[in-house]
Amino acid sequence: METLSVRCNHCGAPLQVAEGTRYVTCQFCQSHLEVRRTDSSIFTEEVAKLAQNAEKMAGSLEVITLQNEIERLDREHAPELAAEQMKRAAPGVKMAGGCIGGIVMVMFTSFGIFFAVSSSRHGAPFIFQLFGGGFALIGIIALIAMLKNAAGFSVEEPGAGSYAARRAELVRKLAELTKS
Ligand SMILES: [Zn+2]
Repeated sequence: METLSVRCNHCGAPLQVAEGTRYVTCQFCQSHLEVRRTDSSIFTEEVAKLAQNAEKMAGSLEVITLQNEIERLDREHAPELAAEQMKRAAPGVKMAGGCIGGIVMVMFTSFGIFFAVSSSRHGAPFIFQLFGGGFALIGIIALIAMLKNAAGFSVEEPGAGSYAARRAELVRKLAELTKS
């Protein structure tokens, strides 16, 4: 049988392999080798290394798949994402608005009381006192409504199974893959 001279890809030792042999174990370093042929040459490649490369390739393929998935999710849910960011900003904005509104309403009420008291003290017609009292009453009602509204504020968490949760899951998987 025709034999071929090749070198171990791992330790460089000369090896004799039979023609047509695909796999060989180096008798010096015990590397598992694949005999590869091109038109002009014949050489060996470590099988373990090949497997590693394949694994790495599969890993990076998974990374790409995950990245694509995240990108697709982001694209699909772009309006939702914008709304969620708005929602997160909203309580702060509403709170500030509520504070200013509250101060305005307190001033409104004070003015109404002051108007009613001073007009009665100066013997103004009853209609003035009624007018001032009305102002004060409107101010108090508005203030109570605002306080009730403010008490209802809560920062909404993204619901489980929502887009945000799915995205977080994908990002976690991706981090795990790229870490190793
Ligand atoms: Zn070897």
